[in-house]
Amino acid sequence: RRSLVVVIGAGPAGLTVANILRAASVDCVVLETESREFIEQRPRAGFVEEWAVRALEERGFAEGIMARAQAHHECEFRWAGERHTFRYGELSGRRHFVYPQPLLVTDLVRAYADRAGGDIRFGVREVALHGMDTDRPAVSYTDPETGQRLRIDCAAVAGCDGARGVTRASLPAERVSVARHDYGIGWLALLAEAPPSSDCVVFGLHPRGFAAHMARGPRMTRYYLECTPGDDPDNWSYDRVWSELRTRLDAAGARPLTEGRLIEKRVLDMHNYVVEPMSYGRLHLAGDAAHLAAPIAAKGMNLALHDALLLGDALVAHCARGDGSGLRGYSDAALRRVWQYEEFSEWFSEVLHGTSSGDPFKAGTAAARLRRLFGSQSAATAFADLYIGNEVDN
Ligand code: FAD
Repeated sequence: RRSLVVVIGAGPAGLTVANILRAASVDCVVLETESREFIEQRPRAGFVEEWAVRALEERGFAEGIMARAQAHHECEFRWAGERHTFRYGELSGRRHFVYPQPLLVTDLVRAYADRAGGDIRFGVREVALHGMDTDRPAVSYTDPETGQRLRIDCAAVAGCDGARGVTRASLPAERVSVARHDYGIGWLALLAEAPPSSDCVVFGLHPRGFAAHMARGPRMTRYYLECTPGDDPDNWSYDRVWSELRTRLDAAGARPLTEGRLIEKRVLDMHNYVVEPMSYGRLHLAGDAAHLAAPIAAKGMNLALHDALLLGDALVAHCARGDGSGLRGYSDAALRRVWQYEEFSEWFSEVLHGTSSGDPFKAGTAAARLRRLFGSQSAATAFADLYIGNEVDN
């Protein structure tokens, strides 16, 4: 059908686009390689910025967040054995909402598929794109039950298939540029079946390596430990993980950490990339498919939502009203925030990793940045604005 949009990938980006299309009665098919059970349980992000919550709320997609999320308005830096609370809520007037990604995905699948009767096909195989630079674009895939090859003719494709999908790979190399940044740092990402041991996010800056504590709900906590890139998670036994967390997050008067079973333990090599432009013919990328921001500043899911809100509205204008201006401006509009957040992640990485870098120059500049954060009102306000996410893009 000529007005139909194919959304590839049912993560936060794809599901938000699909819900916006469905709410405007624009035909849409979502293709997802995994099962519904799998995507509703995949643990990842947990912090949604207030502007994103408000935007979802206005569209009626934030019921779960409003009912269950806890609001955070401060974070804590621990270094040299001391605790320093940073009250970004007071400085910016905005908060984070702690809402694990699987809960958001579950809410968005329910809203799209169960409540609005949207078409979502799970477990599809070998998704391929055709004629993206023509006016007869199409997507083909293998049906998991029949093994049949199916083809959907469409008006446009939303490429929301994450960092390892097919849509970015289908862009002709000569039509896009890919900017990359490798931090040369690894993070052991841990999910512990344990209640949080602090009321806010904790960043531990320690000569042995960075460590972090982030609530994921009343019984679940995410921890990070800086490690060598490519390290084997099996090198990290239960005892080693908890002993290292205790050491790196230790500070005068800090609550002892509550231990718990580690239900996720994987090594992330910290790197970023940005694809420019994010559109090619009838294909428009959104979220991790277009750009990756290492979880250093917890920006990835928020950027995915930002893209999806812009792209969803632009697709509705195009398909329902024949107005293509939103789609033409989509890539530039999305990239403004992408680059702000990428820059912030890089800046923040220097703060978090300087102490453990083994380089006295980096350690000195990281300490200078921290002192400025706690000693200068204007520096603190600028940091708070980026940390919680701007209302407007620069
Ligand atoms: P995804 O969530 O990756 O969704 C893409 C979907 O496409 C998936 O369901 C996938 O199965 C599907 N797919 C893949 N290939 C195909 C294909 N060929 N055909 C069809 N479907 C396909 N971000 C934050 O904002 N805050 C945080 O605190 C945070 N913490 C994180 C912690 C960890 C450990 C990790 C790994 C990430 C974290 N992030 C965080 C980043 C965040 O999870 C991602 O940025 C976010 O998931 C991006 O959403 P997306 O919809 O673009 O992609």
